This record gives sequence, C-alpha cells and structure tokens, in this order.
Amino acid sequence: MGPYSSLNLGTATEDDPERVRANRRRVARALDIPAEWVSLKQVHGTDVVEVKGLKGFQRRSGDALCTSAPRTPIAVMAADCLPVALVGRSSSAVAHAGWRGLCAGVLQRAVATFGEDAPRAWIGPSIGPCHYQVGTEVVEAFRATNPDTPDFWESNGSGFRFDLRSAARWVLSRAGALVEDSQPPCTFCDDRFYSFRRDGETGRHAVVVWR
Ligand SMILES: [Zn+2]
Repeated sequence: MGPYSSLNLGTATEDDPERVRANRRRVARALDIPAEWVSLKQVHGTDVVEVKGLKGFQRRSGDALCTSAPRTPIAVMAADCLPVALVGRSSSAVAHAGWRGLCAGVLQRAVATFGEDAPRAWIGPSIGPCHYQVGTEVVEAFRATNPDTPDFWESNGSGFRFDLRSAARWVLSRAGALVEDSQPPCTFCDDRFYSFRRDGETGRHAVVVWR
C-alpha cells in the first residue's frame, strides 16, 4: 500500500531507488528489452538529448530523448503530464510535456529531430480535460507561442479546463508528425495510473520506446 505500491518507475520520487530499479527490470523482462533504459532528470523544459547507445550514457536534465541506435530503450516518466512516443523510419524519440513544456515547444523540438522523416506520434496516458483545471497563465502562455491556436480550453468561472491532449495533437501535427488517433485514458480518472493531481505524493508510470 502507499503512494508507490504499484510498479513505480520514477527515480525522482521518495521511493527506494533499489525498488524502482527492480520495477524497471520487471518491465524490461516483460517487454524483452535491456533493463537499463535511458531516462532523464525531467525539468519541464525543452532540451532534447540524443542517445548514441546505452554504454556510457550520463544521466542529465532534459524532457525529450531521441535515438537511432538499435535496442536502446528511451523513456519518459509521468503522473498526469503528457508522454509522447515518436517513431520514424530510422529513429525514435520520446517526450514529456506538461503545460510548461508544451508552451515552450518541447514537442516541436522532438519532432524536428526527425528532419524530413515525418514520425508517427502516439500520446500516452495523461490528465484529461475532465480534470485539468488551470489558471489564466496557462492559456496566455499557450497563446503567446501559438498565436493562431483554436481554444483548447473552456472557461469555468474559477479558471479554465484545458485539453492538454488536443493541444498536443495540434502542435504535433503542425510540426509534421502523423498523430495516431487514440483516446488516452485520463490518469486522474483511471486508477491504473499515477496522478499527481489526484494523489499528491505519488509514483510515476513510463512510456518506453525502442526499436
Ligand atoms: Zn479525468
């Protein structure tokens, strides 16, 4: 029981790091991928880190990873924020976007790593508009960097209900990605997932990409 009782994969939590490593090994076994997948110290920024291979990778800050190396799993952790997997013909990327990263352009930067090779994009479990209450600053920040945006939000008196996924789909498409038409579960509604807004202190699930 407790906030980390169910396969927490995030090291940036108060959970025992050895347990997190054991959980990552369990996932790796189930997926038949190397256990030491690459992840970052996520900071709600826009840095995209290229991974040449598993050997010698130094963990650093950033919110997206890309690689063209085979059998090199790259992962982002989330608990409401939006994880995005991107797969092109010869490379892959994964990105983590809350509203700050989304507004600052982390998704465009991740798509840009593919050059002319338009990647397919898949949006993972993330907080839905049903539970994503934000203040004016979020709407203003999104408008500032995306002046021609449709309204991905609805005013509800105390602020806005923001549709982070629709905003992300729009941003990804305009950046040149082919976005899979999926309906990701809301992490707040669906208790299979961690939700920072629902639980406060909580673990992290992951989106892992490899080829
Ligand atoms: Zn919800």
